[in-house]
Amino acid sequence: MIWSKEEKYTRTEIENIQWERLKKQIHYAYESLAPYRKKMEEQKIRPEDIKTLKDIHKLPFVVKDDFRKEYPFGMFAVPRKAVRRIHASSGTTGKPTVVGYTKEDLKNWSEQVARIAAMGGATEEDTAQIAFGYGMFTGALGLHYGLEHIGADVIPVSSGNTEKQLLFLRDFETTVLVATPSYALYIAERMEENGYQKKDFRLRFGLVGGEALSEKMRVELEERWEADFTQNYGMSELNGPGVSGECLMKNGMHINEDHFYAEIIDPETLEVLDEGEEGELVITCLTKEAIPLLRYRTGDITRLTKEPCDCGRNFLRMAPLHGRTDDMLVIRGVNLFPSQIETALENFDEIGAHYEIEVRRVNHLDVMTIKVELIDFKLLDSFGELERVKKEIKQKIRSVTGLDSQIRLLAPRSLERFEGKARRVKDFRE
Ligand code: ZN
Repeated sequence: MIWSKEEKYTRTEIENIQWERLKKQIHYAYESLAPYRKKMEEQKIRPEDIKTLKDIHKLPFVVKDDFRKEYPFGMFAVPRKAVRRIHASSGTTGKPTVVGYTKEDLKNWSEQVARIAAMGGATEEDTAQIAFGYGMFTGALGLHYGLEHIGADVIPVSSGNTEKQLLFLRDFETTVLVATPSYALYIAERMEENGYQKKDFRLRFGLVGGEALSEKMRVELEERWEADFTQNYGMSELNGPGVSGECLMKNGMHINEDHFYAEIIDPETLEVLDEGEEGELVITCLTKEAIPLLRYRTGDITRLTKEPCDCGRNFLRMAPLHGRTDDMLVIRGVNLFPSQIETALENFDEIGAHYEIEVRRVNHLDVMTIKVELIDFKLLDSFGELERVKKEIKQKIRSVTGLDSQIRLLAPRSLERFEGKARRVKDFRE
């Protein structure tokens, strides 16, 4: 369902509204956000120098580190009194990234998420179970308010306690599940062994986020739940979820372009790339008040397309993430994104969607081991078949990444499962 009139805008209408809003935001950031004004002054750019939407490339970037430097509230452009909510994301290193929202920001955010939820199939008829962790993380509350905004009833169960997830899914007749893809799959795996039967569940849609959804994972989720699974994207610096999401065509995530202006840059040269080229996603927030963020480097690798979508929306689409610039591994001098391994594994029916990449240093050489699970126990009886599958996976990985690897085929359900984002990489070097 198309939730708002903006989603039906033509490309010209979209670009007009983006330009009107961008002009205002540049002046606003220059006047109210001291760290950004300083960046503009250093680059000798004034708001008047931006004369068209395309001139945006002249503006300086903002990076995650700017938030850390300004911890806690230096990135706020409004007085504390105007702030209605504060979230923070825990960095693995250093100080958390702190973000704030005005009343208007919270309203816009639930509107953005409402559209994404509707794109993924949710309506006011639905009952949505939120299995994201509540707290300072923006995922749970973001989806919570967005789904309430479209009139769905929301079950804020939070992450973990899989027994209770299954009980509520069945007894509350949940129709929409919100979770990370890996947790949604884990709940499904536990269904049978906990004595539940698929026919007792009413699930129709899964709205997943927090990590990329691979096609292999989607197929497995949709088969197990007999429901449509779509993924959505966002991060706390950009409000949270609600930046973009897949419609039921499942061919890329539509960006809420009246709120977010998207560019793709080469992360090395910082040059803006053309439509269709792969690079780092840079987002300019066109409506945010508490933190008017311009040209924020997300660290996520993707590409954009303006091709029309069969769903009738004209908002451009971003491809599922190809990894994050900071997730990139360097193995024997070769750059590797975990998603490349995922792609290589996608065509093997003998194995499931879970995998783990292990890197060790043996005699000063990087050794990569890929652990995957067999889809069932049948193959375990045939040594010849196991060796064949191993060899084929090894060859496929070499052709996709240029790297040699050791393949370990494990019994079904032997890799670790996660209630939040999966940790697919174990790097034992250093
Ligand atoms: Zn679409």
